[in-house]
Amino acid sequence: MLKSSICAYCGCGCRLRFAVKGKRIEKVLPDRTDEISEGKPCIKGLTLHEVYDKGRIVQPMIRKRGNLKKVTWSEALRYVKEKTWDLAPSEVFFAPSGKTTNEDCYVMQKFARIVFNTNNVDGCCSRLCHAATLVATSEAYGIHAMPYTLNDIKNTDCLLIIGSNPASNYPVLFNRILEAKRRGCRIISVQSIFNEITQFADIQLVIQPGTYIALLNGIANHLIKTGKYDRNAEHCEGFDKLVETVKPYTGRKVCDICGISHRDFLSAADAISDSENFGALHGMGMTQHIKAVENVQSLLNLLILKNGKILSCRGEINVQGCGDMGCVPNIDTDLFERAWSVKLTRKLGITMINALSLSPVKACFISGFNPAQSMPDLNRVHRNLEEMFIVQMDSYLNLTSGFADVILPTPTLLERTGTITNGERRVRLVSGVIEPLGKSEQEWVVFRKLARMLGYGKHFPYRNARDVLHEITNVIPSYSGIDADSVYMGYDQFADKTIKFRKFIPAIFTGVDDVRSRRYPFLLTTFRSKYQFLTGEMTSKSETLQRVSKDGAYCYISRPDAERLKLRDGDNVTVESTAGSVVAKVKIDTRMQQGVVAMHFHFERLLVNKLFPSQFDTRSLTPNYKLVAVSIGKIDKPQKQEGR
Ligand code: SF4
Repeated sequence: MLKSSICAYCGCGCRLRFAVKGKRIEKVLPDRTDEISEGKPCIKGLTLHEVYDKGRIVQPMIRKRGNLKKVTWSEALRYVKEKTWDLAPSEVFFAPSGKTTNEDCYVMQKFARIVFNTNNVDGCCSRLCHAATLVATSEAYGIHAMPYTLNDIKNTDCLLIIGSNPASNYPVLFNRILEAKRRGCRIISVQSIFNEITQFADIQLVIQPGTYIALLNGIANHLIKTGKYDRNAEHCEGFDKLVETVKPYTGRKVCDICGISHRDFLSAADAISDSENFGALHGMGMTQHIKAVENVQSLLNLLILKNGKILSCRGEINVQGCGDMGCVPNIDTDLFERAWSVKLTRKLGITMINALSLSPVKACFISGFNPAQSMPDLNRVHRNLEEMFIVQMDSYLNLTSGFADVILPTPTLLERTGTITNGERRVRLVSGVIEPLGKSEQEWVVFRKLARMLGYGKHFPYRNARDVLHEITNVIPSYSGIDADSVYMGYDQFADKTIKFRKFIPAIFTGVDDVRSRRYPFLLTTFRSKYQFLTGEMTSKSETLQRVSKDGAYCYISRPDAERLKLRDGDNVTVESTAGSVVAKVKIDTRMQQGVVAMHFHFERLLVNKLFPSQFDTRSLTPNYKLVAVSIGKIDKPQKQEGR
């Protein structure tokens, strides 16, 4: 039987068809009617049947005297109550996930706020990936989302792809870029490592890591000097300040900072100047820096000058929805007080950066998130996790499971019912194609049970996920235009995407996040593999993906640097920063800039995030995962690498 639902991976949110036999998914097929994938989803989505049931958590477990023991749901929840119920609100933290549905996220944050009287709620993927984008768009456009759609890219005549590699990470978006190019769109790639997009672009800029603001200010200055910008921009707040701020960013100065030729700078600046339908795509290359908000703001300045369109490549399937559902620590709770008829605390919550790293809490509910691998400064985070009471809600065991005191089985998206909101703010139905495996339960069901056990059941009266969406559309203003019943009939709808205003917020380039030194002479950046997704719990189980992928736990290095250090492909090296060290195999890559090395972040056996110290963008608290000074030292004895 063929059933339809949504892919479990990225923020594009493709609809797929699943060939189901009995309780098994036998195959995944493209859905030719799907507006997002346009019948061409990527290989990750098409191999979901290989991974959904491998290595699953199927029964609740609790850790006693160091060992995990299978228990019933009632035993597990009673244990959770025993260990958490007496804690102060500030001592508990909730991490909902963009891998789950809107309904799961909404009920989880409602539980935290009503039952534990805390605003310590923070969605994982958003904080670690695009929190800075949302801060920047809310200040420049008055909206916490992307105002444009994937299809808007098709009609651009000049597209700037900056700090993002959609050819590898967002194939359905890349299909639209190909279409735009066929229509004559000029593609400008700005990256700090040479990748597939650089290769594909008409204008290729490989800049020094961390110098986006200088480049974008230089281009803005060029537009203003040549007068090739939208005159309506002069009426936007901040225009005069922008003109003053970008004036010193001459082409020559920008080229010195970014390490590019003046000819390349002018090619990019002129292409944008001449464009009549300009667009930009950005990704984590821009947002995972300590100047993340300013990076995005300087891009938005350019877009406002050209009245252009922006799209960001989002990570998890429901990362937009998770934030929209109130899974942030600093939301205005008046809204919830009125809607839920309860008194809530006014005290702002803390982010996951504080809760898990800087000022650790005592207990943590973690849903679909693997902080033991994905947080920065992992040595410190591991020490903190050791001390916490951790309730892990997940479909697969991962590194975080080793720290968990209670593990509660939750279904993958293929077994869930509810909705997700993709990176365009398109709300789509998720209709489980098989029953949840084993004893797994969705978060909204688990928190309803726990609320009943703790005497708060009346606030969670839902019979099903549709009841939750009805409440969401009554409570969350940006979802008030959504007809819950239509979504549950399978019709996509958009949450509010309207730009409220356009405002320039000039940014100043103050230098890169970290600098090379005699002790740490290389700059390390991290990047993604086309065949892996986040911390790899699912993708690492696909035989097809493993077969076609050439990526691994490597340290990619330029040939001149490798020759200078007498390194050959396959040699083991210690990569060390001020925060820690890891062991990797050398991969010489002729596309790497000298003095820059790169590593994938998906691999448990590499744990590259040990190298990134606790450095964050102060506005959005997005960690710096893109730039750290490191040393590379050859290891003469072979090293055994374990794990995924
Ligand atoms: S991983 Fe993303 S692009 Fe690929 S099929 Fe899934 S949703 Fe679509």
